[in-house]
Amino acid sequence: QSAPAAPVALTPMMAQYFEIKAINPGYLLFYRMGDFYELFFEDAEIASQALGIVLTKRGKHLGEDIQMCGVPIHAAQDYLKKLIALGHRVAVCEQVEDPAEAKKRGSKSVVKRDVVRLVTAGTLTEDDLLPARASNFLAALSMVRHGEADFALAWADVSTGETAVIDLPANVVADELARIDPVELLASEATRMALAENHVILPAGLLVKVDPDLFDSEKAAERIVGAFGAEVVDPSAYSRPSRAALGALLAYVLDSQKGTALALRAPTAERVAGHMAIDQATRSSLELLETQRGGRKGSLLNEIDLCVTPPGSRLLARRLAAPLCDPTAVNARLDCVSALLDQPVLNERLRTGLKSVPDITRALTRLALDRGGPRDLNAIGAAIGQAGDLATRLGQMSEAPQGLVAIGKALSEAPQALAAELRSAIDEEPPLLARDGDFVRRGYDNALDAERALASETREVVAALQARLIEETEVKSLKIRHNGVLGYFVEVPAAHGGRLLEDPHREQFIHRQTLANAMRFTTGELADLEGRIARAYEASLEIEARIFNRLRESVLANTDLLRATADALAELDVHAALAHLAATRNFSRPQIDNSLAFRIEAGRHPVVEAMVAADGNAFVANEADLSGTEAQGGGKLWLVTGPNMGGKSTFLRQNALIAILAQTGSYVPAALAHIGVVDRVFSRVGASDDIAHGRSTFMVEMVETAAILNRATRRSLVILDEIGRGTATFDGLSIAWATVEALHETTGCRALFATHFHELTALSKTLSRVSNHTMKVREWEGDVVFLHEVAEGAADRSYGIQVAKLAGLPEPVLRRARQVLTLLEARSSGAPTLVLDDLPLFAHQPPQQMPAASADPLNDMLDQLRPDELTPRQAIDILYEFKKIR
Ligand code: ADP
Repeated sequence: QSAPAAPVALTPMMAQYFEIKAINPGYLLFYRMGDFYELFFEDAEIASQALGIVLTKRGKHLGEDIQMCGVPIHAAQDYLKKLIALGHRVAVCEQVEDPAEAKKRGSKSVVKRDVVRLVTAGTLTEDDLLPARASNFLAALSMVRHGEADFALAWADVSTGETAVIDLPANVVADELARIDPVELLASEATRMALAENHVILPAGLLVKVDPDLFDSEKAAERIVGAFGAEVVDPSAYSRPSRAALGALLAYVLDSQKGTALALRAPTAERVAGHMAIDQATRSSLELLETQRGGRKGSLLNEIDLCVTPPGSRLLARRLAAPLCDPTAVNARLDCVSALLDQPVLNERLRTGLKSVPDITRALTRLALDRGGPRDLNAIGAAIGQAGDLATRLGQMSEAPQGLVAIGKALSEAPQALAAELRSAIDEEPPLLARDGDFVRRGYDNALDAERALASETREVVAALQARLIEETEVKSLKIRHNGVLGYFVEVPAAHGGRLLEDPHREQFIHRQTLANAMRFTTGELADLEGRIARAYEASLEIEARIFNRLRESVLANTDLLRATADALAELDVHAALAHLAATRNFSRPQIDNSLAFRIEAGRHPVVEAMVAADGNAFVANEADLSGTEAQGGGKLWLVTGPNMGGKSTFLRQNALIAILAQTGSYVPAALAHIGVVDRVFSRVGASDDIAHGRSTFMVEMVETAAILNRATRRSLVILDEIGRGTATFDGLSIAWATVEALHETTGCRALFATHFHELTALSKTLSRVSNHTMKVREWEGDVVFLHEVAEGAADRSYGIQVAKLAGLPEPVLRRARQVLTLLEARSSGAPTLVLDDLPLFAHQPPQQMPAASADPLNDMLDQLRPDELTPRQAIDILYEFKKIR
């Protein structure tokens, strides 16, 4: 979107356009002309395509037509929204002087214009451009090299002011980006390349490559002090990478607001170890905040979010994205939920009260950026009032836990005097913009009331004048009217117009306009009146603007208190919602400590449960016990076998979800849950091709398995489903085998491992903490019925053909499959079942060529195998032999 090189002879307007375009590369330029924002050249093509608006031409440039399209001012917001959603960035260029001024300079001079705002996905503050229930983070990633490269990530939601920063090694960058999920990411090219060397690919769609200078940590210190004040934030308290990241973030936000004050809060410094690590693949596989197909519906968050305010929903989403690792902190949250759960009547009242509390964090930011209006003042007044009421209700609670006491205290400190002032000043339903006026209540300001009285008095004078003129002219239908062009005027039907032009009236009526059926005049008296009314109106607007600004200042002077109020309201909403959830969904309080326990009784998958219930069925609860101790070498590993559709992945996932919910500070869908804090959850359930990065299913699976084996610790929870599916059976089996051994012997983490390789179940004999479990099924008249129940032991068969039948595979194919299966089973009788569970529907060899048991070295070797006598090592070696023969 770079501007074409400026040619020799330019019209003054085009010269101005090119100049502004050149200092805002990478932005679509909204160039203000009258009631439109116009776009030119390539910008026009992009916008007309994206917005579906007409592309026109305006004049010539270098002999070629200039492409142009425009959006009307009144609809600009909608168009901006669309462009931002499509990943564009827009520079809004306004006329910054009165066109009359330009005329004075000469007929050729153009109105001065300047970019007043850069609109990008990460710097929005307008409610109608933002999702209400999701945060909107802008992030900056810095790198400082001394020896090893150190990274830091700073992020802020410009609309609410929340700001945070974290130091992190290269291998955590992707995890943290997945957690924060920014809509825009600033990084220098060098940072991007350094990460690429570490196999960390920054999401291209979000990445804004910025000048490395932006990350200068010295300049950053100045910017930090400038933004927050030296007495609030000491830049030297942050690491160099953190300073650099914050500096870049601040510079970008400042630039986007073009000089308006920053409205960010002092940054909180987070630590990687402070929260449960959940990488992108796990987040997506567990569908925490959104489903794999994208969208919130069907996700865990959507299922558990019963918050009644948008800030509550946003806080819950952030908490769910970063469950805590400190049992004390988790229990402090759980105490709040418990207390509210114990007092359902109070909790319902609190939730009813919260429902009507407006979202004041965003209102506060808009006011700080001078983009707010009377409605924002009203919202703040109302919220303060509500906060007071809620504090009183909370105060009635007996034996409130520490967390609720703190919330109650913050709410009781909301500035009630300010609320009273706002209430007495602003009308109930004021206009959106302060400049429209007429939002200050009668009786609030004497001077204002006086001007208003004058204006309305004048209206009476107009009525009297009209009556007099009717009498004088004897035109009964004469009216005094008003419009934007003529101001006040006398209007008579065309038929009577002549009378006013006649002699006796000539002096008085000055003709202004003749319409098809009416004639319009002014009089000296009217013009006089007009002036008086206009002056009164101007004066009242001015007084209202002054009142607005004074109230705005009082609100901003209370910023810290109001933010504390907003935080407390959001937190109360989250606790109250989780208590309500626990009550309605029959969740129970998890026991959280520092042990290596993981015992779940009657656990359920909250999302599948709701889905199953919607179909009128009952969800089958299952237990899991992976508890272990240091002395035993770590936690247990359950090998789970069973047919497709048996409920394996549901079972695996539900246990990960229960751990995440528990450490978020929520009750969990189980009769009992005892969990030693999990430092990291890994979940690989049904890997799929990553076509975007050119990696096959198998490659993706191996990369992810490698990540698990390299990064899981004894405290981690690992959920693996069908490792080794994407390759030849023996390769897959050997990899799965070795993975189980490594998890058991080296990592000692708590793990659930679902597999189709029944051979793996032999591992339970050699590995002390490995045990076999299976999804129960029942056969009924040749069909299979899934009981969704986890039982001890291994599956005896895989019911692949029955499942295929359920899926509607044609009968002849099923019949043939049964024949092949019988053949294969006969062939391998005596040896353990091989490869069959996952027999592809059409094997590499067409079935008709399937040889009868014959000279087949593989088969012979298998016949001689005595698996029970083999060590795992020998088994692997034999597998390699097999592989060679094939
Ligand atoms: P698998 O991973 O073994 O192929 P899934 O976990 O995908 O099986 O489960 C298949 C379907 O069975 C689910 O979509 C759900 O409808 C149902 N299901 C799974 N577990 C349960 C359960 N515990 N209770 C009731 N229905 C279940």
